Amino acid sequence: MDIVDAIRAYHDDLTSIRRSIHAHPEIGFEEYRTSDLVAAKLTEWGIAVHRAVGGTGVVGVLSRGNGAGSIGLRADMDALPITEATGLAYASTNPGVMHACGHDGHTTMLLGAARYLAATGNFDGTVNFIFQPAEEGLGGANAMISAGLFDRFPCQQVFGMHNRPGLEVGAFAIKPGPMMAGGAFFDITVTGRGAHGARPEDSVDPVLAAAAITSALQSIVSRNVTPGDPAVLSITGLQAGTAYNVIPETATIRGTARSFKRETMQMMEDNMKRLASQIAAGFGAVATVDFRFLFAPLVNDPAATDAIVEAAASLVDAAKIDRASAPVMGSEDFSFMLESRPGAYINLGNGAASAPVHNDRYDFNDAAIPFGAGLYAALVERQLPRASAG
Ligand SMILES: [Zn+2]
Ligand SMILES: [Zn+2]
Repeated sequence: MDIVDAIRAYHDDLTSIRRSIHAHPEIGFEEYRTSDLVAAKLTEWGIAVHRAVGGTGVVGVLSRGNGAGSIGLRADMDALPITEATGLAYASTNPGVMHACGHDGHTTMLLGAARYLAATGNFDGTVNFIFQPAEEGLGGANAMISAGLFDRFPCQQVFGMHNRPGLEVGAFAIKPGPMMAGGAFFDITVTGRGAHGARPEDSVDPVLAAAAITSALQSIVSRNVTPGDPAVLSITGLQAGTAYNVIPETATIRGTARSFKRETMQMMEDNMKRLASQIAAGFGAVATVDFRFLFAPLVNDPAATDAIVEAAASLVDAAKIDRASAPVMGSEDFSFMLESRPGAYINLGNGAASAPVHNDRYDFNDAAIPFGAGLYAALVERQLPRASAG
């Protein structure tokens, strides 16, 4: 019996876990019920549990044999501030919060791998099951790293996984090298001098300065970034004023920047600060920029990529594995773990009919659970082989 079939033997249990987490979504760093559930299941299966590794983070440690090899497998646990519109029987019971990115499924798949590996023990070394809080822009990966994740739980390699809507269930997609962009959020505050709307001569108009800054920021990607080095700078918010006849004191601009290179991100930050401050100064106003680098570019180690591709090929037809997936401008904070340790991040299919992630009708596809759990389990057996297995 292959690993996927072995895990299918408890697919019903895993589906119940997934739907229980789905019905009780929790925002980043507030995954109290979720981390309790994770810890209880790991304990039930005889896996040593470490709580509060970076807030609500949990690490399960499972060793077999006396090999020195070690591997980290990571899942994210947090939900999003979205009101669910799926109408499912197990829809969110926490108003305004929803598992719209499938982290309920990621957590469940890692639990499935943990259960299988604890029961079968067909490996030699140590597996660290890393359940991360707060992937959605709140810094959960860095919180765990700062809490000593890789010092306390040594990992020679680390692997992560994310579902992909539109990709068939049982299919995988990955690429070596840069696979997801680095990401930053920024807020620019333009401060002028408020006045009556009929007396502009008494004002330093922050609205006009903010409009000029917004337009000028579009020159960064088009004029400063090397063509062929993908980058995005999107202004997603522009706010000022509350009355028709009042020139406000301040205006705010917010948005996101993405790039595949840290140097490009730094250049975008530097140029944004220069443009904003000097354009504002030209109008007699002052601009301050708060630029928060939240996601490193996600870069897959070539050898680790080969390892997880070969593990996938042991489970599914080779034609179902896309080894040269196009890079995406989306971001993922597992990238910081990949900056600390070599490893790889793979996508698995959530089905052709799946709504997009971050959509209020999205749902993780339970049919994918045995494939994701099976991939992690197969990877461990291949990367930490027992001596008797050669
Ligand atoms: Zn997400
Ligand atoms: Zn996600």
